[in-house]
Amino acid sequence: MHTALRHVNTLTFDNRYARLPPAFYRKLDPTPLAAPYLVSVSDDAAALLDLDPAETRSERFLDMLAGNLVPPGAEPLAMLYAGHQFGTFVPQLGDGRAILLGEIVNAKHERWTLQLKGAGETPFSRTADGRAVLRSTIREYLCSEAMHALGIPTTRALGIAGADETVYRETSETAAVLLRLAPSHVRFGSFEVFYHRREHEYLKQLADHVIEAHFPHFAGTSDCYERFLIEVVERTARLIAQWQAVGFCHGVMNTDNMSILGLTLDYGPFGFMEAFNPGHICNHSDEQGRYSYENQPYIGLWNCSRLAQALTPLIPAEQCNAALARYEGVFMEKHAVLMRAKFGLVQAMEGDDALVSDLLALLAEHGTDYTIFFRALGRFNAQQGADNDAVRDLMVNRAAFDAWLARYSARLAAESGNDADRCMRMDAVNPKYVLRNHLAQIAIDKATRQRDFSEIDRLLKLLQRPFDEQPEHEAYAAPPPDWAKGIEVSCSS
Ligand code: AMP
Ligand code: MG
Repeated sequence: MHTALRHVNTLTFDNRYARLPPAFYRKLDPTPLAAPYLVSVSDDAAALLDLDPAETRSERFLDMLAGNLVPPGAEPLAMLYAGHQFGTFVPQLGDGRAILLGEIVNAKHERWTLQLKGAGETPFSRTADGRAVLRSTIREYLCSEAMHALGIPTTRALGIAGADETVYRETSETAAVLLRLAPSHVRFGSFEVFYHRREHEYLKQLADHVIEAHFPHFAGTSDCYERFLIEVVERTARLIAQWQAVGFCHGVMNTDNMSILGLTLDYGPFGFMEAFNPGHICNHSDEQGRYSYENQPYIGLWNCSRLAQALTPLIPAEQCNAALARYEGVFMEKHAVLMRAKFGLVQAMEGDDALVSDLLALLAEHGTDYTIFFRALGRFNAQQGADNDAVRDLMVNRAAFDAWLARYSARLAAESGNDADRCMRMDAVNPKYVLRNHLAQIAIDKATRQRDFSEIDRLLKLLQRPFDEQPEHEAYAAPPPDWAKGIEVSCSS
């Protein structure tokens, strides 16, 4: 079927969230950004809206990205929500700088809700300025599209508009707006706000909206709220298993940053773990390490418990507990499947858990780069006397690692298959390229100092094929240079 390509003026909107009662949001237009310039656009994301590729280079498109043009049919609004931030309940947050433009239906009848991040003050801005800095929009933009290419559920990013407007964080920076896409931007905190206010009718309306819009197969059943909660719990468990397997640390797993659809949401001080360390904390502002790598699975469950609590007016406590009880099993199962695949193992066998955890202990002891190690392990040759120095050189304690490799060889021999096939399987799950902080930083420095956005586009293309060997970009797979040790990412964005 030939799909009619769309322009900004011909997008089809059907704004279901905007039809909820006014208590759920505040309608308002984005604040215009003076003299915007296009920083980058993801053609893959544009295709989700059937946008004509030529349109994405137009003035009109740039104006939409910048918040200067509200496309016909859009109904801009800031969403209300609350949230537990670092364990403490904050009764009212809401979109302090994000503006939902509306919900688009594409030719395949898929629905994408467009949201501007950094589009100016809203009634929920509290004391902040409603803006986002170019630095943080570049990180979110690249990581959203990179996570999608890794097969990890995430919000998508359509593009960035920048401007000379000054924004003050630790230093003065410039403003930018990110346009992101998701089937829904509803968060755990969207439910928490109505539970806290004892507005149970709104709570029910929100649940009905989410079920009808995103889980229509539950609609009309007597236990629809319970099934909805189970679905969110299980999606969250599987999402975090995927984060753990790829070494992704979110950094700010507050309940207002948890998607009701199990998407990775709100990229701030995230990071891909480099030197393996279970206690790794990627967010410089997280002094206690609440959101450390090894805590993420527990925090995922804790956050689901806050959602379950918020849903207690709709679901009997016993059923809430039963839904939460599913988290651990779903997480463990998904994590085991993903880790087996990372090691190239096809069947599950006794002793696999120890094989995996003993290897992770060696990685931690040596501070070996997580991504580089698994890519190299794919090239391990199980033949007697084969040259495996490429992977052995990643470990300092050769004797301990050789002992582990002997166990691994024996384990591989216990299932049929050959090294070449295993390498192919492993390459399909162990990325060669991830968004390392220093790679993002190089792109940010070029963009902010020279207004040169070419590195952003280069990284975007590279990360859209994270599992492919891209020999011309070998340097992008290298461990971080010494200067990268000084990069600190914090909540400031
Ligand atoms: P975050 O830590 O980015 O998830 O944001 C937490 C809350 O603070 C959300 O309600 C945001 O909308 C709000 N917020 C963060 N930065 C700003 C800003 N520069 N202006 C207004 N609100 C903000
Ligand atoms: Mg947030």
